[in-house]
Amino acid sequence: MLGLKLVLILLFCWEPLNALESDPELTSTYYQGDILNRGAKRRNGIGNEIFRWPNATVRYFIQPNVFDKAQLAHISEAMATIMNNSCITYVIAKEEELPLALNITGLNDGCNTEVLGYRKNAPNRINLQPHQIGKGCFRIGSIMHELLHSLGFEHQHVSQNRDEYVRIEWENIDKNQFTNFINEDDTTHWHNFGEAYDYNSVMHYLPMAFSKNGQPTIVALKKGNYDMGQRIKMTKSDIRKLNKMYKCHGYV
Ligand SMILES: [Zn+2]
Repeated sequence: MLGLKLVLILLFCWEPLNALESDPELTSTYYQGDILNRGAKRRNGIGNEIFRWPNATVRYFIQPNVFDKAQLAHISEAMATIMNNSCITYVIAKEEELPLALNITGLNDGCNTEVLGYRKNAPNRINLQPHQIGKGCFRIGSIMHELLHSLGFEHQHVSQNRDEYVRIEWENIDKNQFTNFINEDDTTHWHNFGEAYDYNSVMHYLPMAFSKNGQPTIVALKKGNYDMGQRIKMTKSDIRKLNKMYKCHGYV
């Protein structure tokens, strides 16, 4: 069941291997790079409603004195983009709401998400290492990527139907990183909300993610993979899935 263990997620970038190794989304000690707690279920979108933010409202708290004005504006922009494209609302937490609020920290620890979805028994936290605007964790898509993890989404490449769309090149992946590509869970607790596999999702890995030899680890099997691993925007499919997950108006 889902109760279990939590899942942590990793992120990655555009750069070639050397840069990937230092990519703040691909911190290798984390499950799937930027997910801190391993989840028992490894699907694209969390299915259990108890892990959704109540009333589609995320109460949040930003660690003080770690982000500059531009970085704070970038976090706000990412939140605004999600709000403008869904029924999700971000509200600064009141003091009494802090224990269950989304804590946004700026540790020098890459970009990662503590747990997938909303949890009452675990820290709701994302970390955004305070990189320069447009770099690392402060690419706008990276911020949205972590926010989508905290809202309940997994990486696209572990969805149930991924083998129809991508081939995982296991021989190019360090064995210690295999866990980042496993999707053997066949329960319905995680699902894709009826959306097709999306190569260009902001939740997709780069083709070279966790490569040990500079060769691709994820190879697309069909057309349409023009932007795999992008960290610029949510795709229309990303937006629809979010709206379906939270039963936003028009998606119920
Ligand atoms: Zn991730």
